[in-house]
Amino acid sequence: MHAATRRAIFRRLAAANPEPKTELEHSGPFELLVAVMLSAHTTDKSVNAATRRLFPLANTPEAILALGEEGVKPYLKTVGLYNAKSKNLIGLCRMLVELHGGNVPADRGSLEALPGVGRKTANVVLNIIFGEREIAVDTHIFRVANRTGLAPGKTPRAVEDALKAGTPDEFKHNAHHWLILHGRYVCTALRPACPKCIISDLCEYPDKTKPKPVTKERRSQRALRGASKTGMFLPQPPRRDSLRPRKGSLRPALRTRKSDKAQAD
Ligand code: SF4
Repeated sequence: MHAATRRAIFRRLAAANPEPKTELEHSGPFELLVAVMLSAHTTDKSVNAATRRLFPLANTPEAILALGEEGVKPYLKTVGLYNAKSKNLIGLCRMLVELHGGNVPADRGSLEALPGVGRKTANVVLNIIFGEREIAVDTHIFRVANRTGLAPGKTPRAVEDALKAGTPDEFKHNAHHWLILHGRYVCTALRPACPKCIISDLCEYPDKTKPKPVTKERRSQRALRGASKTGMFLPQPPRRDSLRPRKGSLRPALRTRKSDKAQAD
């Protein structure tokens, strides 16, 4: 992809959402680290459901350590792989207390040494908390980068390197958020919403989805909705003649009733 096209893609994503944010609920570095660690192979929604119950009770390494592995499990039940993640969470808190004075370290090596923390989690923390221009590559970003041609690569690391090399500096800090949100809500895995996509003309994906064909029925429904919304006209009551009985429907019945009456007389 040409550098000018990459720039144009980020310009559009930035114009549509100038201040993108993570959807993982958190306040402070420790809560973010825990939320991102828990989000591996599960949805942000399920993580938020868990941390909404856990953080009001315990949101420091010391407090979570005091709960213990069995104590945190009930709070993490909405999260996939919660048994392994409970164990990692306790190990992570222990290391933060013993090696970092209860603080979240600001360097990649120390972050990746924490249980349950890999390169992606470290990148998110380095980006959001410490303002570094890291681009974490998850499943959504991997798909978007490959489909669009922004940063093709066979592995998340290859995509990360290509994104870091090809993303203009001014967009690097937010690139992760724009691409993840685009992948989650527009360029979805099963049926990307190409007809509504704001970068459709810049995207190099050869198998873009086409707009659904507009049937006669959908067209008239749409026209009615649109016209009603814009006040062009209000839905009209049915015409008088459409209420008249159709030939061969009610009339024979009436005729039959008249003949029955005659016979009865
Ligand atoms: S045009 Fe389609 S494939 Fe390309 S980024 Fe948009 S949604 Fe994804």
